[in-house]
Amino acid sequence: MATGELLSQEQKKPRRTRLPRGQLLIGGAWRDARDGATMTTSDPTTEDIITEVAKGSAADVEEAVAAAVRAFEDGPWPHLHHEARAKLLFRMADLLDERVDEFALREAMDMGMPYRDFRETIMPHCSGLFRFFGGAAMNAMNGGYRTSYEDQIRILTRREPLGVVGCITPFNFPLALTCSKIAPALAAGNCIVHKPASDTPLTALALAQVAIDAGIPEGVYNLVTGPGGTLGDALVKHPLVDKIAFTGSTGVGQGIIRNGADTLKHTTMELGGKSPNIIFADADIDAAVQAAFWGIFWNKGEVCVAGSRLLVEHSIYDAVVDKLAQMAKGAVLGDPLDPATMVGPIASRNEYDKVMRYVEEGKKTATLAAGGNSRKINGKGLFIEPTVFAGATNDIKISREEIFGPVIPVISFKDEEEAIRLANDTPYGLASGIQTGDLGRALRLADRIKAGTVWLNTWHKYHPNAPFGGYKMSGYGREQGLEALESYTQYKTIWANLA
Ligand code: NAP
Repeated sequence: MATGELLSQEQKKPRRTRLPRGQLLIGGAWRDARDGATMTTSDPTTEDIITEVAKGSAADVEEAVAAAVRAFEDGPWPHLHHEARAKLLFRMADLLDERVDEFALREAMDMGMPYRDFRETIMPHCSGLFRFFGGAAMNAMNGGYRTSYEDQIRILTRREPLGVVGCITPFNFPLALTCSKIAPALAAGNCIVHKPASDTPLTALALAQVAIDAGIPEGVYNLVTGPGGTLGDALVKHPLVDKIAFTGSTGVGQGIIRNGADTLKHTTMELGGKSPNIIFADADIDAAVQAAFWGIFWNKGEVCVAGSRLLVEHSIYDAVVDKLAQMAKGAVLGDPLDPATMVGPIASRNEYDKVMRYVEEGKKTATLAAGGNSRKINGKGLFIEPTVFAGATNDIKISREEIFGPVIPVISFKDEEEAIRLANDTPYGLASGIQTGDLGRALRLADRIKAGTVWLNTWHKYHPNAPFGGYKMSGYGREQGLEALESYTQYKTIWANLA
C-alpha cells in the first residue's frame, strides 16, 4: 500500500454519525445476545461512546456454531460449483467498493485510522482479497487424477473445505484482517463464525451485512461479538469448529493453540512483531528516512509489521536520527476524519496507557530525539506524539518488546554482519526491511533475514497475491496468496479399481 501522500486539501471532511446498536448475525438473522447483554465501543478522537454492541456469551457461540454446521452439512454452500461461489465473492467485492465511505467512517471512528488511508489503501486491498480468492476458487480448488503401480488402479484427489472456521481478529486493521481470513475460507467452501475485537467491532458488523446483501446463503456467515476470554474461548474449545484462524498477540495465540488441542483444531497464527528496518550508508537517505517514518508511524504504529527497530549504519547515524526526528516533529496529529491528518489517536485507553508506559521506559534507557508526550486535540483524544529514541541498544526493553504505538528506538551498527545479527536477534520474525543502493547486498541479506516479509527500499507493500505471515514467535501459516487457500482445505484420496 502506498502511504504518505497528503490528500488534496479541498477534500471534504466527513462527519461523525450515530450508529444503530450492533447485533449478532446467526443463521442469517440479526439478533441481540441471548441474555440481552451489551458493551460499548468508543471513539478515541472524542472519547465519546459511538454505540452499543451485543455482548455475546458461550450460549450465543453454541447457536452460531450450530447454524454454521447446519449450513455446511445440509446447505448448498460446500457443494456449489466453484464458479457460483466465486460470483458471490465478486459481488461482495463490488459491494465493499460501493460502500467505501461507510466503512472508512466506521474504521476512523472506531480505531482512529485516517479516513483517507482507509479509502486509498485498505479498501482496495479488502475488495481485492475477495476478487483474488473468488478467482482462486475457480482455479485452485480442483482435484487431480493420478496413476499408480497397478494398471487397473486410478487415484483421484479431491480438495475439500475443512468445515466450520472460527475467525478471531485483533483491534487493529479490523476489516483488512477479517477479509484476509473470510475470503479464502469462503472461497474454499467453509462456513464461518467471526469474532472481532471488542474494541473495534464496527466494520465487522458492516461486512456481515455485505455478505447477506451479496446473497451468501444463511448460516454460512455468522458474526458474534463479545469478550475474547469467554465468547472467544468458547469458540476455540467448541468440538464442531474445525479451524481457528487467529490474528492477535503472541500470548493469546499460545493460549488458543493450547485450548484448541483437545479438539485437534487446525490453526493459523498471525502474531506480534518487532521488525527491523536496516539503513545502509549507500542508501538514498531521504527515501530511506521516508520508508522508516511511514514504516513506524503509519496507523500510529498500531501495525503488526511496523518497522519498530531502526538499525542505522554508524557513518550516517546522526544524519538519519536528525532527519527522522524532524519528520516526526512535523507530523500532523489530528482527527482521522481530517484529510490533513497523518497520525490519528491510539485506538483505546488500554493501548494508550500501555504505549505511554513504554515511552516513559524509553526515557530512562535511551535519548529522546522527538516526541515523548501525549496530546489532546481540541481538549480531547488519545494522541501520542511520534516518538524517536536515539542511542538505543538492541537489549533494552523498548527494542525487545512489541510496543504497538508510534515509538521507535534507533540502533547503530558498524557493518553488514552486525546488521544481520541485530536484525535476527529478536524472538519475533514477522517483517523486515533493507534500505540500500546495492541490490546485490539487498538480495544477499534478504536471504539471511528470519522474517516472513522483507521489504527492499520500501515498506508497507501488500497484495492479495503475496503470501503474508510470520517466522518464529510471529506465528505460522500464511494469509493471502494461494498459500492461504491451502490452510482452509483438506485433501481426499479416492482409489478406483477399473478392473
Ligand atoms: P489480542 O489481545 O491477542 O486479541 C486478539 C483477538 O483475540 C481479539 O478478538 C480478542 O478478543 C481475542 N481473544 C482474547 N483472548 C482470547 C481467548 N482467551 N480466546 C479466544 N480469543 C481471545 O490482540 P490485540 O491487542 O487485539 O491486537 C494486537 C496484537 O495483534 C499485536 O500483538 C499485533 O502484533 C498482533 N497482530 C498481528 C498481525 C499479523 O498479521 N501477524 C496483524 C495485526 C495484529 P477481545 O478483543 O474481546 O479481547
